[in-house]
Amino acid sequence: MYLEKLRLDGKVALVTGGAQSIGLATVEALAEAGAKVIIADRDETVAKAGQASLKAKGYDVDVVVMDVTDSARVNQVADDVVAKHGKIDILVNNAGIARSMTPAETVTDEHWLNVIDVNLNGTFWCCRAFGNYMLKAGSGSIVNIGSMSGFIVNKPQEQAFYNASKAGVHHLTKSLAAEWGSRGVRVNAVAPTYINTPLTAFVKDDPKMWDAWVGGTPMGRMGETDEIASVVHFLASDAASLMTGSIVSADGGYTCW
Ligand code: NDP
Repeated sequence: MYLEKLRLDGKVALVTGGAQSIGLATVEALAEAGAKVIIADRDETVAKAGQASLKAKGYDVDVVVMDVTDSARVNQVADDVVAKHGKIDILVNNAGIARSMTPAETVTDEHWLNVIDVNLNGTFWCCRAFGNYMLKAGSGSIVNIGSMSGFIVNKPQEQAFYNASKAGVHHLTKSLAAEWGSRGVRVNAVAPTYINTPLTAFVKDDPKMWDAWVGGTPMGRMGETDEIASVVHFLASDAASLMTGSIVSADGGYTCW
């Protein structure tokens, strides 16, 4: 009974930014659990490479080109997915950018607006477009990728725009959970620590940053993409049927200190 709840057979899922890194690991986790999964990313070549890597593992996933900041395109993709598959059961809002290491007093309008646009606005456009179909169906599960940066201020890198965007994602998650809880749609978030992806690759060459990040983590290491994907999988599944509005930390203990 318990393992059954983690199965996603017959479910349709879409992962934004699903072409690589945390997104691609999430696509694999959901596909392995039985879902029909759609990679939605802005670069078709990278998305198709992600699709091919999963095909080699035996998973047949779809690809759509979608920039989450383009709300008209997001609406179109939601319409297309439901027209093709008849429904949308799971939405993972993973697309995000950081553009870290910029002191607040030097941040340009373009920099601030770009990070907020992808991380917060994009998450909302997707929740609204796909959430409408879930509400009509009376069921659905949305998992937003927040960050421990929505709880704490990272050091030493300055990234006020990113931290604010992720705190916004967390409270958007709770707000939608409250509005949609009685209508069958659950909305949760995962708040990861530093994960080994291209977004964080620069740190390996910077001993000061590495010490601050890894030394500031009780588990003494960064995370791997599959360690976030498995939390997303759990939240997306019926195993988390009582959970909505939860921001689940997967941070190696970073926020304990
Ligand atoms: P990556 O940069 O490795 O992958 C993100 C994917 O999202 C890329 O394929 C990227 O495409 C795509 N993307 C970016 N902008 C858009 C957009 N406007 N529309 C559609 N797709 C887009 O990131 P990570 O896997 O490291 O991060 C994934 C999520 O996890 C993000 O929300 C991030 O903030 C969050 N996170 C990451 C942590 C980490 O340490 N890595 C820690 C905590 C949270 P492209 O390459 O073209 O930009």
